[in-house]
Amino acid sequence: MKVCKFGGSSVADASQIKKVKAILDCDKERTIVVVSAPGKRFSGDEKVTDMLLSCAEMVQKGISSKDKFEEVKNRYRDIAEGLGLGRDAIDGDLEIVYKKIESGAGRDYAASRGEHLNAKLISKYLGWNYIETEECIVIGENNKIDSESYSNLASLIENGKKYVIPGFYGRSPSGEVRCFSRGGSDITGAIAARAVMADIYENWTDVSGVYSSDPRFVKSAHVIPALSYKMVRELSEVGASVFHEEAIAPVVEVNIPINIRNTNCPEDAGTIIGKEPEEKGVVGVSAKGGLSKIYVRKLMFFKESGIRHKILSLMHIYGIKPCYTLYGCDSISWYFETKQIENIDTDEMCSRIQSEFSLDEIELKKGFAVVGLVGKGVEETMEYVDALDELRKNNIEPSSVSLGGSYTTFVIGVPEERKLDAVNCISERLFIK
Ligand code: ADP
Ligand code: ASP
Ligand code: MG
Repeated sequence: MKVCKFGGSSVADASQIKKVKAILDCDKERTIVVVSAPGKRFSGDEKVTDMLLSCAEMVQKGISSKDKFEEVKNRYRDIAEGLGLGRDAIDGDLEIVYKKIESGAGRDYAASRGEHLNAKLISKYLGWNYIETEECIVIGENNKIDSESYSNLASLIENGKKYVIPGFYGRSPSGEVRCFSRGGSDITGAIAARAVMADIYENWTDVSGVYSSDPRFVKSAHVIPALSYKMVRELSEVGASVFHEEAIAPVVEVNIPINIRNTNCPEDAGTIIGKEPEEKGVVGVSAKGGLSKIYVRKLMFFKESGIRHKILSLMHIYGIKPCYTLYGCDSISWYFETKQIENIDTDEMCSRIQSEFSLDEIELKKGFAVVGLVGKGVEETMEYVDALDELRKNNIEPSSVSLGGSYTTFVIGVPEERKLDAVNCISERLFIK
């Protein structure tokens, strides 16, 4: 049995959904489909999820979402008509959703309706059964999947039947609609694969696999044929957004392989994620921007037991959750997402940390990115030396370098505005022989 998840661009309009049907029709093992909300049809288009989030925001501010919801309606009506189903196939559901959003049903409810409505339409078009994820997928705090989700979902699936499942949402333990974070339909696909112990989890998108770097920005990017679960997770952690960084968890424990494929080029083999590749060396170079760095220094810092933990706890109160840590003699630097300090007085925070811990120095700087070189045995192949050499040649000054604790990723801090230059020059050096 194969579980197939189709992302936003694969189900953005009727012509894309017809491609989905063709893909399903050519393999009878493809019996479970997880779909996203309609995504962008062209560059500059708006994703339905974003439209719905705007509707919820308007209602929260006391403004009617009528006009915005009209745009949502038009997207679904176009799809229904393009699939030959007619508006009646969706108008009733649209009315229910509009009324609930207007009555203040909230952000998660509104966001989830993109997948809900699309899955309903696609199930009608395919003539497959619809499964409501609110009834079976339980999402705890911090996106934690409740393990009962797998058995709940499995109990709704009968052998020999075919199903369409909306991605991205389920319910909270207390029963309200709850969404995963953005891009979370990948997680639903993985839950479905685990629930039925699928032979493979096919994740259909708009590129022919996981590339060595984001193909939108890097000319020398190429598809990586095989990756381990760990590598794909580490690549997405440093910005490779093709597969949600939390979507590995449900399938990794039971070793279900994931195949990233292209809806627009179904003949391409894509990337298989599963076993560790034999060969050592960097396979991917990716970058994540929008970071800030806080540096603290105090003579004999590490002699004070618990000081690190106490500073982190104080930063946590201000909403800062570091993603990378670097240690020096008597000092520590933490990188964190700049959006975490958008609404806080950072001068006040730094003065407080400095005085509470009698620090000799504290410095907070914005405008960083990290570039990650991901591959098996990165520490042994020493390709990071070539990468650093290339940065020097291109006058890109690293703000930090770290092999990290994983042995799979070498992380280099760079100025945000040089992020793409860094990825491009390193990719060319490492991959174009
Ligand atoms: P979907 O809507 O199908 O889930 P996403 O937009 O979430 O698709 O992911 C696919 C996009 O991820 C691609 O169009 C590509 O621009 C981007 N991307 C970023 N990094 C990579 C990478 N290393 N390999 C492939 N795609 C990447
Ligand atoms: N529709 C949701 C989003 O835009 C989830 C997804 O597409 O995976 O983030
Ligand atoms: Mg995605």
